Amino acid sequence: MTLDMKKIVIAIDGNSGCGKSSTAKALARQLRYIYIDTGAMYRAVTLFFIKHKIDLKNDLDVAEALKQIDISFEYNIVTGKNETFLNGKNVERDIRQMEVSNLVSPVSEISQVRKKLVDQQRRLGEGKGVVMDGRDIGTVVFPNAELKIFMTADLEIRAKRRQLELAEKGTKVALNDVIDNLKNRDIIDSSRADSPLRKADDAHVVDTSHLTFDEQVDKILELINIKIEEV
Ligand code: C5P
Repeated sequence: MTLDMKKIVIAIDGNSGCGKSSTAKALARQLRYIYIDTGAMYRAVTLFFIKHKIDLKNDLDVAEALKQIDISFEYNIVTGKNETFLNGKNVERDIRQMEVSNLVSPVSEISQVRKKLVDQQRRLGEGKGVVMDGRDIGTVVFPNAELKIFMTADLEIRAKRRQLELAEKGTKVALNDVIDNLKNRDIIDSSRADSPLRKADDAHVVDTSHLTFDEQVDKILELINIKIEEV
């Protein structure tokens, strides 16, 4: 199979809650690539800032806090997932809570935060054979990625999927609260000065509103196969 021959970088960007992470995870599993959830990294920084009551407007406090933050990923054999660690502690569950979701976009606007995380993301992807999802992967982190995908879906459909995902993990949240959160994050993420969410000119748009999960994975796998034949 050609997939084993060439290792490429696959950049997946798009709106909040349109299934980027689960799609990227499934693709990485099938391709035996490394999966990097960059949103988890911004969430881990946000969790640290909440716990230590960091004032987002105070540059010096933010710089000091960033020096104390170490983010890593470890594969959990039991769950079959790559889990996020903040200073050696597993925070996979904590970073998905609404308190973090509600502050993560303002934290992600801070250039010092972005610089630290983008440097780490580039190191993680330098060996290729990586699927990375986020908001600026195809535009800033890996502008030369061989394949760029821009995923999107209707707001209400995204919110229902996210609500279900949270419910499966034992967190009950009203649909309107999920809609507000996704909407606000999209607005902040797309309008910030540093690395706003936008489709790279050479990205393929995949609208998942009316696709099943398997369909969206297959659609991207097709694009990957074509790309691997080309490089
Ligand atoms: O992907 P996820 O929804 O978990 O990302 C959480 C937040 O992290 C986004 O709403 C965005 O503010 C920020 N983020 C970012 N750049 C990335 C990934 C995530 O600004 N590459």
